Amino acid sequence: MLEDTLARIEKDMREAPDKGLVANYIPELAQVDPSQFAMSVCLADGQQISCGDSTTDFSLQSVSKAFTLAMALGRFGNGLWGRVGREPTSNAFNSVVDLELAGGRPPNPFVNAGAIVVTDALLAGRSPKETLAEIVQFVKAAIGDEEIYINHDMARSENITGHRNWSLAHFLKSADNLEHECDLTLGTYFHQCAIEVNCQQLARAGRFLAGLSRDDDMIAKRHVRSINALMMTCGHYNGSGEFAYRVGFPGKSGVSGGILAIVPGVASIAVWAPGLNSFGNSMLGTIALEQLSRAMNWSVFETV
Ligand code: GLU
Repeated sequence: MLEDTLARIEKDMREAPDKGLVANYIPELAQVDPSQFAMSVCLADGQQISCGDSTTDFSLQSVSKAFTLAMALGRFGNGLWGRVGREPTSNAFNSVVDLELAGGRPPNPFVNAGAIVVTDALLAGRSPKETLAEIVQFVKAAIGDEEIYINHDMARSENITGHRNWSLAHFLKSADNLEHECDLTLGTYFHQCAIEVNCQQLARAGRFLAGLSRDDDMIAKRHVRSINALMMTCGHYNGSGEFAYRVGFPGKSGVSGGILAIVPGVASIAVWAPGLNSFGNSMLGTIALEQLSRAMNWSVFETV
C-alpha cells in the first residue's frame, strides 16, 4: 500500500510542469538540477520504504535547525528560551525586522536569526570545530552511525555571499544576544547547514522525533514534544500555516529542497525536491507530503 502510494506520488512529481525555482542566493545551490525527486518513510515496525533519487546527497540547510535545537534543549533545557522565542512570524526566514521589533530576541529557533542564536548557545565551552563535530555526531547517531560529510564548498560559498546572515549576526551582537564573535558563530552555522545526507538517511535521522525505535538514546520525550510543536507552527517559516493546513503534521524545511516531516508515533518522512515555492520551501516536497498525508490519513487533525 505505502509502496504503491510512493510510486504514484513519484510519478506525479516527475510529471509536474512547475517544479519551483532552486535557491540562487547560495551559488552552490543554484547549480542543483531541479528535476530530482526523492521520498523515504520510516515506520514504527522498522520498515523503510523509499522512492526516487533517495541515495543522492543534498545539504541539510535549515533542516539542520531541528537537530541543533534538539541538542540545545538537551543541554540547556528551558534556559534557551531567554534568548529565543516560540512564536511563528509572518516575516521571511532571513528577516531583520523581527529582531529589531523584539530588541534582538528572534521569534523562534527556526528562522535564521533564531538558529544562529541556538548555534551560538551550543558553542559555549567548545571551539567551533568541537561544536561541529558534536552536531555531526548527533546527526550520525540519529541516522544510526553512518558516515556523513560536510560540503565545505557549500559552507564557503555561503560564508562569502551570506550577507543577510552576517547582518543578522551583527544585529544579534549589537543587542547582546550573541556570546561569540560573529565569524565564529556564523562559520559554525554555515557548516551545520552544509552537512550532506540523502533522503533515506534523513528519514532515519528523524525517527527520534517520531518516537520510533531509537528515541530514548537521543533526547527526553518532553523535548521531542516541544520540537514537534515548533516544527508544526514555525518549521516552514511564513508558509507554516499553509503547510499545516495542507499536510497536517510537523515538518522542517531547508532551502536545498529537503523536508523532514514527522507523524508522531507513526512515521518519520524525508522528501527532497530542490525547486522552491515563494516561501523558500520545497514546492514538490510540500505537494508530495500533502498527497501522502491524504492517502495514509496521517494528518494529526484526522478525527478517524
Ligand atoms: N543556510 C541557509 C541560510 O542561512 C539556510 C536557510 C534555509 O534552509 O531555509 O540562508
